[in-house]
Order: sequence, then C-alpha cells, then structure tokens
Amino acid sequence: MSEFKCALCLTQITEENNTNEHIIPNSIGGRKKIRNFICNECNNKTGENWDSELAKNFAPFCTMFGIKKDRGDVPPLRVKTISGIEYKQFEDGTFQPLNPSLNVIAKEEKGFDISIQARTPDEAQRMLEGVQKKYKLKEESIKPLKEQIAVKDFYLDEPIVHNFSFDAEKSGRSTIKSALALAASGGINPFDCNLAIDFLTNRGEPNFGYYDCNNDLVKNRELGLPFHCIYINAIKETGQILAYIEYFGFQRIVACMSNNYLGETNQILYAINPMTGEEIDIIIELNFTPDQIKKIYDYEMYKPESVRVSFGHIMDRAISYSREREFHRVFNKAVAYANQFHDISLSHEQNCHLKAEKIIESLQPYIKNLIKAP
Ligand SMILES: [Zn+2]
Repeated sequence: MSEFKCALCLTQITEENNTNEHIIPNSIGGRKKIRNFICNECNNKTGENWDSELAKNFAPFCTMFGIKKDRGDVPPLRVKTISGIEYKQFEDGTFQPLNPSLNVIAKEEKGFDISIQARTPDEAQRMLEGVQKKYKLKEESIKPLKEQIAVKDFYLDEPIVHNFSFDAEKSGRSTIKSALALAASGGINPFDCNLAIDFLTNRGEPNFGYYDCNNDLVKNRELGLPFHCIYINAIKETGQILAYIEYFGFQRIVACMSNNYLGETNQILYAINPMTGEEIDIIIELNFTPDQIKKIYDYEMYKPESVRVSFGHIMDRAISYSREREFHRVFNKAVAYANQFHDISLSHEQNCHLKAEKIIESLQPYIKNLIKAP
C-alpha cells in the first residue's frame, strides 16, 4: 500500500488508480507530469470540468502559437469575424468557412452564374450536382465547372473577434490544482496547502487574485515571450506558501496556498516555452504580507493599463508568429506544387523558369492578401 492519498478525495493511491497528471494541462502546452498526486477518478473529473474550461479560454492563443498536444489532434477553433461570419481555424492557422456558400444567379438567355465556396472538393461536386438537378441543367453544361473545382488558399476579408475570458470557478480551480501539483512534485505535502485544498474541495473561498501592475514579479522577462510558469515559495518564518502562476505571458495570478505551513523553506519553479516544451530560466520575486495578499484578492494590484501592455506584447508576438508560419506554409506548398512541373524536353534554365512561374501562380492568393492587408 502506498503512503499517498488523493489530494482531492483522500482515496488511497494504489497501483490501479494512480495517474500521470500533467502539472500544467497538456492542452495549453504543459509537458511535465506527476504521479501519486490525485486518483484516476479525480484526474478524469477535473480534466473534464476544470482543465477543459481553461483550454477553452486559451484556445485562441494555442491556435495562434501553434501549440501541439502530446496525443490527439487539436480540434479546430470556431471563430467569428466582426460582421458575424463563422469559420473554423485549424492548428496550422488556416481557415475554412463553417458553412458552405452557394450563389446562383439566373441570367437572361445566357443561363446561370454559379459560384460555390465549399469546404472540400467533394462537397463542391455535390453542390454542383444539386444545382444541376434543381435547374434541370444538362450534364455538358455542368462538366466544365466540375473540372474547375480547385483547392485554394483562403483568407478572411475582415478581422476575427476573440473574446478572452478567464472563468474563476473552473479555470481558476485548474490553475490552483496545477500550483498544488508543482508544490507536491517539489516535495511539499499537498495537505500542507490548506487554503488551496479548501478551495478545490468547495470548503473555502478562492485562494487567488489577478496580478498585473508596475511591479513585475518576473525580474528577467523577455517581452512578448508567451511562456507559462508556476513558482512556489514556501516560507518557514511566516508559515505561508505563496504561488505565482502566469500563462501565455499575460494571465498572471498570485495565490496563497497555505497560512499555517510548518515545513522548511522551499522554492520550486516550473517555467516553459509552450511552443517547444523547453524549460526556461526566469527569476521571480514573490513575497507578500497577508495584508498585501488581501489587496491582490480585491483587484487592487490588477491595473487595466498594465494588463493592456502585457496583452499587447503577446498579441504583437502572436501576429508576427502567425505571419511567419503562414509564409512558410504557403511557400513550401508552392514549391511542392511547382516541382510537379518538369518537362524533359526543356533546358534546365527553361525548367527553372517554368517552376518559378508555377510558384508565383500558387502564391497568388497569399500575395493578394498581403497587398490587401494594411
Ligand atoms: Zn481522488
């Protein structure tokens, strides 16, 4: 029998119900895991209720920074433009209309104008056949249109609206569970974190507050780096265990995990670049008196102008990263497309010329979009 109990339901941890719990949810890029922390049932429950809500809150950032999970595909993100048109955005940053569109304009004498925007070539084919039936068109008149069906890069005509919210009930619990997991991984008994356990098990108030003001707790911050970090400072003299959690370089939380800690002073840090999983070295200063903690809980150290600046740095990085990624994607695709055209009757130079033309042809939607962009 192991000496460990589930931190949430007190069930004895056994071979059968032990789990590998990600310290920071894998859905937002966390890699490190912990065993002997919570039981399998609590792992499943908290994953479905808390971690999935956190993942939903941060989904736009996961898509913008191309964050991959250990297993399984990243589901496409549903986004809306400012005029309310819905799209799916995929992991590689590309978009697809949520609903296909079909325009049929009947013209006098000459017949019809048909324009179709479908999600797949098969769907375009089926839509064309639908039009053919509905308007009783001949097979020959529809055939050239079928041949024109092509997969094209697709760009939005207008900006997307993202609403960032952080749900204190669920995402907040996920965050505190992560801080508790890191404390446990660093040798602190999770049951010493009385305030965290009380909040997670509905016996106490939330033990955290949002923090963003002139005094940045990260002393060597690289501006715009979308890192995740959890830092635990267990202080023997004051009996406090304090935690600082930051996700994506802008969502910053200070938590008081314990106010009656009797153990040794201990500092534990886990900081990663979620895009690569690489651990990073940062310096954090975390010391607050109970009075200051109360002020943090009352939003007194959460200043809108600081939040705007932190968020702005991350968005700038997200936009430049998305642009770079899109350039690589379309350029590699264009080269692969052009390489299909190789004519042995042509000279080397003529073939190069032909391929260059094909590259430009394939890049057209991308270039047009660049010209259009401000
Ligand atoms: Zn449990």
